[in-house]
Amino acid sequence: MATWEELDSTTQEDLTEWLNIVNPDEEDLQRLADLHEAGQFYAVDCGGCGDRIRRGHPDNWDHFQGVRDDEGGGELCSDCYGEYRKLAAFVEDV
Ligand SMILES: [Zn+2]
Repeated sequence: MATWEELDSTTQEDLTEWLNIVNPDEEDLQRLADLHEAGQFYAVDCGGCGDRIRRGHPDNWDHFQGVRDDEGGGELCSDCYGEYRKLAAFVEDV
């Protein structure tokens, strides 16, 4: 089982940014490490604007209430995905 300290700094930053808690305690951090190890968290750069996209899929959301989960689609952030949807709708109408 991976511990928090074993994660690289980029992953740690992605996880804490996503968790959105000012001073996460050890338990919070271990939950994040577990989530990451379970493959239930990922982060990529948006294919449109390059912003960081962070998404988690915990089985139990009880400890992840205030997360900043990106609501876009695929590898697009919510903003770019919204634009993409508008464009797609426009194209379909023609
Ligand atoms: Zn974007």
